[in-house]
Amino acid sequence: MSARRTRLAVLDGVPEHVELVETTVPAPDAGSTLLRVEMAGVCGTDVHFWTGLTPYPAPMVLGHEGVGVIEELGQGVAVDHAAVPVQVGDRVVWVPERACGRCHGCTILGDSSMCENLEVYCAPSSHNWAAWADYALLPPEMPFFRVAGGTPPEAVAAFGCALPTMLQAFERAGGLSPGQNVIVQGSGPVGLAATLLARLSGAGTVVVIGAPAHRLDAANALGADEVIDIEAVPDPSQRAELARAATGGRGGDLIVEATGVLEAFSEGFELLAKGGRYLVVGLWGTPGSVPIRAMTLNNSNQSIVGSSFCQPRHHLQALRIVERHHAAIPLAEMVSDQFPLARASEALAVSRRQECLKAVIVPGPERCA
Ligand SMILES: [Zn+2]
Ligand SMILES: [Zn+2]
Repeated sequence: MSARRTRLAVLDGVPEHVELVETTVPAPDAGSTLLRVEMAGVCGTDVHFWTGLTPYPAPMVLGHEGVGVIEELGQGVAVDHAAVPVQVGDRVVWVPERACGRCHGCTILGDSSMCENLEVYCAPSSHNWAAWADYALLPPEMPFFRVAGGTPPEAVAAFGCALPTMLQAFERAGGLSPGQNVIVQGSGPVGLAATLLARLSGAGTVVVIGAPAHRLDAANALGADEVIDIEAVPDPSQRAELARAATGGRGGDLIVEATGVLEAFSEGFELLAKGGRYLVVGLWGTPGSVPIRAMTLNNSNQSIVGSSFCQPRHHLQALRIVERHHAAIPLAEMVSDQFPLARASEALAVSRRQECLKAVIVPGPERCA
C-alpha cells in the first residue's frame, strides 16, 4: 500500500491562527492502532487554546474528541480496551491522553485524572494521535473503545469530553439519589451533559440556568424541567428566586457549576439545599477567588466538590450511555455545525461566538467538499 498522507491542524502559538501541516503516516507498529478520523468535536478548551487564553506547549495538534474508523491494526491488536473484539472498519472512540503509571496519582491514588505527568498535548509528527487530522495513530497504551453498530458518529461526538467529564464529576460528588433536585449552571456542552445525566439518574426537578436561548432549548430536549435565561433575567437574585421556586423552596440537592465564570460560584452556592453538594466543574481555567460563608457550609452539612479531567472508564461509560439512548434522546441533533479540516479556524470562531450548539470537524473529503 502506498504511504498514507495526513493533514494535522496545528496551533503554532500565534493567537487565532491554525496551520495545516502535512506528513506521512507510518503503518502501525505491534500493539498500535491506526484510525481514519471520521469526526472530531470542537471543545471550549480548543477555543481557549486558539485565542491564547489557556497556555499550551506550541506547536500542538488540536483535537481531543475524536471518532474514527480502524484503518489498520498493529500486530497483536484484536480487542479494544474493554476486551471487545475489533477489526478493520470498526468505528471507535479513543482517549487522547497518556498517564505515566509511575506517580502518586497513578499508583497511590489509582486515578489517572490526577497523574502528575498526564500527557494531553500532541506535538505534530508522523505519530500523531490528536483528532484534528486525517489519521490518528494510537500507541499501545492509549485506550480506545469500539462503538456499537447503528450509533451515528454525531451522537458520539455531540458530548465529546463533556459527558465523561461529567461522569467523573458525578462520581466524585457521590452520585444522585432518585428524586433529588439538580440545578445546573451553564448550558454549554458540560452543562448539557450534566442535564442529561441528572435526568438519566432519576433526578427530581432539573433546573438549568444559562444562555443563549437555543442552548436552553437543547437543555429542555435533554430533560430540564425549568430553564432560566440569564439574558432575559440578568439579576442574580431574581434568578435565585426562580430556581428556589422551581425546587419547592429547597434549592438544589446537587448543583453543578459548568459556566467558567467565577461569579457563578457565589450564585450557585447560595442555592444549595441543606445537605447539598456543590460540584465545581467549569472553573478549570478561571483564576481568582471568592468568599464562602463557612458557617453555612458547616451548619447546613453541605459540601463543595471539584472535579477535573476524567478517566478512561468514564469515556467507556459515556459511550455506553450514547449507544443506549441515542435513539430516544436527541443526541446526534446536538451537532449543529460541520466543518472540513481546512476551515478549522471558522469552526473555532463559530464556537467562540456560541452561534452553534456543537461544532465538529469532518476531515474526510467525501463529506466536506
Ligand atoms: Zn474538551
Ligand atoms: Zn502518573
